[in-house]
Amino acid sequence: PHPTVAIVGRPNVGKSTLFNRLVGKRLALVDDRPGVTRDRREGDGKLLDLEFRVIDTAGFEDEDPASLPGRMRQQTEAAVREADVALFLIDAREGVTPLDEEIANWLRAEDAPVVIAVNKAEGRQGETGRLEAFSLGLGEPIAISAEHGEGVVDLFESLRPFI
Ligand code: GDP
Ligand code: MG
Repeated sequence: PHPTVAIVGRPNVGKSTLFNRLVGKRLALVDDRPGVTRDRREGDGKLLDLEFRVIDTAGFEDEDPASLPGRMRQQTEAAVREADVALFLIDAREGVTPLDEEIANWLRAEDAPVVIAVNKAEGRQGETGRLEAFSLGLGEPIAISAEHGEGVVDLFESLRPFI
């Protein structure tokens, strides 16, 4: 069995977009509206020559966007606990939000192996968002663009020690 990567993060940061890119099939719904991805999805991911199992944690975004909602939290926690590494995404354009901090606090408390990636980092906002994400205390953030396929080598280098 391959090692497992759980993609976690608050709604709309691009988890399903990254999942689709890693898995290479359109298995996860992606939509501009928050709340579209309903189910947890798993697939066989590939990044350069790394092969792994990927879990895309769904949002349940409809429950309560103001705090980490119950079902989303449960699903995130379950995925992280069975994964070899959590790939924690934040959104470079939004910067670090209170919900990002809540997730980061939980990941640190769990002592979960984490790679933190700042998505939507294409263009000038990328580096600003990446620097802001150091404040989450989860190591050096990498800048990626799931939509545009940027940051592949950095993502590869960050995941490789866990796989
Ligand atoms: P999820 O809720 O975390 O699964 O997020 P989605 O994958 O559904 O993406 C939410 C929105 O962000 C969609 O409109 C995506 O097209 C968009 N998105 C995802 N990745 C990127 C990216 O790298 N750059 C930009 N600009 N938008 C992105
Ligand atoms: Mg999704």
